Amino acid sequence: PGSGDSTTVVRPRLTVVSGPSGVGKSSVLAEVRRMAPDLYFSVSATTRSPRPGEIDGTHYHFVDRDWFQRMIEAGEILEHAEYAGNHYGTPRAPVLAALDAGRPAVLEIELQGARLVRRAMPEARLVMLVPPSWEVLVDRLTGRGTEDPAVVERRLRVAREELAAAGEFDHRVVNADVRQAAAELVNLMVGPASEVSDP
Ligand code: 5GP
Repeated sequence: PGSGDSTTVVRPRLTVVSGPSGVGKSSVLAEVRRMAPDLYFSVSATTRSPRPGEIDGTHYHFVDRDWFQRMIEAGEILEHAEYAGNHYGTPRAPVLAALDAGRPAVLEIELQGARLVRRAMPEARLVMLVPPSWEVLVDRLTGRGTEDPAVVERRLRVAREELAAAGEFDHRVVNADVRQAAAELVNLMVGPASEVSDP
């Protein structure tokens, strides 16, 4: 909200999307890209190894721990967190460049990172993608079949913690139908951020 006679600047919106493992983030966000090709999707740096089909520089910047540490020390990382034993972080410059160029930007990151963005950039809009029910999420996580039960157990524990934080987010989008969830997200992502007063 603007106040007094300071200039009001309308910045493009930064949207953070989080959601537990198994909620269908990748399919929903792939649909969002198709619906809104002008959005800037941040490419994170990570210390985890590429999965089959993942391309360096497209899905992630795959880096080693030393490189990751040096990026943090150089102030090049907007937020970072550890998840399942690997480090993940958002390169700062490309996100700010997109916003400066008038392009809404999207970060797909986990809960700890979402909290850090909230503190660093209070104008960011935080959205959590949630399953239609806890049972649906359990089915999706166990139904993958190939996973070690201990891994599934761990994912479910983390998922429960993440869903418990849903109230901290500005919006919750239910993924019952991929296209509908994507359309809701696009509506939240495009358009200007709330007005920011520049003194
Ligand atoms: P995955 O290894 O399955 O690609 O990602 C694991 C988790 O890390 C997901 O919840 C994903 O949203 C999160 N993640 C990916 N990039 C980043 C990042 O730059 N920062 C943070 N905090 N989390 C990230």
